[in-house]
Amino acid sequence: MQDIIRQLHELNAVSSLLDVPEKERSAYISTLTGYLNHFINQIDEAISFHECAEHSTALRIDQEKKSLEQLLTLYQSEVMEKGIIASSGGHLGYIPGGGIFTAGLADLLAAVTNPYAGVFFASPGAVDIENEVLNWLKKIFSFPQTAAGNLASGGSVSTLIALTAARDKYEIKNEFITKGVVYLSEQVHHSTQKALRIIGLGDVVIRYVPLDEKHRMKAADLKELIVKDKAAGLKPFLIVASAGTTDTGAIDPLEEIASISKAHDLWFHVDAAYGGFFILTSKKDFFKGIEQADSLIVDPHKGMFLPYGLGAVLIKDRNAALYSNQYSANYMHDAIDEEMLYSPANVSPELTKHFRGLRLWLPLQLHGIEPFIACLEEKLLLCTYFREKLVQRGFKVGPVPDLSVSYFWYPFKEDTDEKNKQLMKAIHADGRVFLSSSVIDQRFVIRIAILAFRTKLSTIDRALQMIDDSLEKIIREEGN
Ligand SMILES: *Cc1c(COP(=O)(O)O)cnc(C)c1O
Repeated sequence: MQDIIRQLHELNAVSSLLDVPEKERSAYISTLTGYLNHFINQIDEAISFHECAEHSTALRIDQEKKSLEQLLTLYQSEVMEKGIIASSGGHLGYIPGGGIFTAGLADLLAAVTNPYAGVFFASPGAVDIENEVLNWLKKIFSFPQTAAGNLASGGSVSTLIALTAARDKYEIKNEFITKGVVYLSEQVHHSTQKALRIIGLGDVVIRYVPLDEKHRMKAADLKELIVKDKAAGLKPFLIVASAGTTDTGAIDPLEEIASISKAHDLWFHVDAAYGGFFILTSKKDFFKGIEQADSLIVDPHKGMFLPYGLGAVLIKDRNAALYSNQYSANYMHDAIDEEMLYSPANVSPELTKHFRGLRLWLPLQLHGIEPFIACLEEKLLLCTYFREKLVQRGFKVGPVPDLSVSYFWYPFKEDTDEKNKQLMKAIHADGRVFLSSSVIDQRFVIRIAILAFRTKLSTIDRALQMIDDSLEKIIREEGN
């Protein structure tokens, strides 16, 4: 006994180092605050993209302990000065990220207090916050409060959850897999095809519905395809529409698609990962019909400017959502029955998870919704401004987008694709603002995706200056 007690004292002397005393905690927070303040204060002047393809050798975990100051210096040079600075307003590539400060505070709070947000029994309060955030989302999209929902890591996992529910409700298994038909747009985000593959539906028939000149699904063609497939003895069961495509910012005709899906008894899923929160803006009417979806996904880490790691899925048919995810295990008998309906773990492949709801709940309570809406309206206007300025400079631009993503190219006299690729390279080498490229209608184009909360008029002017300089460089080389 004495020996055990002696050993425990010895171990405690070392293990208690993990529970940092108050003085040290305050010092850490103060050091971190200093770093973060500096980071945010300089972010508008710093470049948004550092081209870098090398692996870092400085990040190795070795036996040598380091101070927080040393580690932040390392973090700055090895992480924050490589690649895309996603929290910068100059991130206009892919779909930009966010990173509002108050969501970071919520994450710190959630991490240090660490409530278990997977199961109602374990932390009724944390789960109530998760569900309150979901209820708030249901209101925004006019979903019934009885709908199931989950806060996942992002749009991809949310899609996985939604499409699994559709699969199970329509019993697409065994011999039905090769007869099942899914209707998509060519512009659908690749996470949809990926989710289908992951959930064992790699062999379903996929029909790409023709698009109109604004890259929106043609509802009449969709209907025709479904009728034909049914007549051929196939089993159409799922339509995936987008409320804001990644490449073109297009919103499919949701209302028409909703009535087609009803008439033919299909599951109607809407991918609103990028565009969903624009329903809070002057673009509201574009979203008519979204309330009729069977499921939808939306990414608060995009349209609510949160740090990466928060997507949401809403599913009207609770039972379909529970069917594929609910659990029961012997060591969890304290946590079943009534709580089944409320626990996040029943609507997700995850059991233990980060308490994600707090990072949306806390900023919403602190700021109110108005700054978020103003920020979204601002992005729409900035996109219009950017496009007009590009046209004035002789660039070609894609069709007027429904939201804040568009694209452009320069009409070089010859080798247009090749030269625009060079232009893209020059822009990346410059890095003041980050843009990405795509291929749309077989043409190489440069995209502009405006959704970062720090993107302002001055950012777009900076982007234009950078584009001017880069174009000049290509034209000069062309002359040589
Ligand atoms: C970003 C995005 C996704 C994927 O979401 P993640 O959060 O990256 O997993 C799906 N669909 C659309 C339209 C998106 O923009």
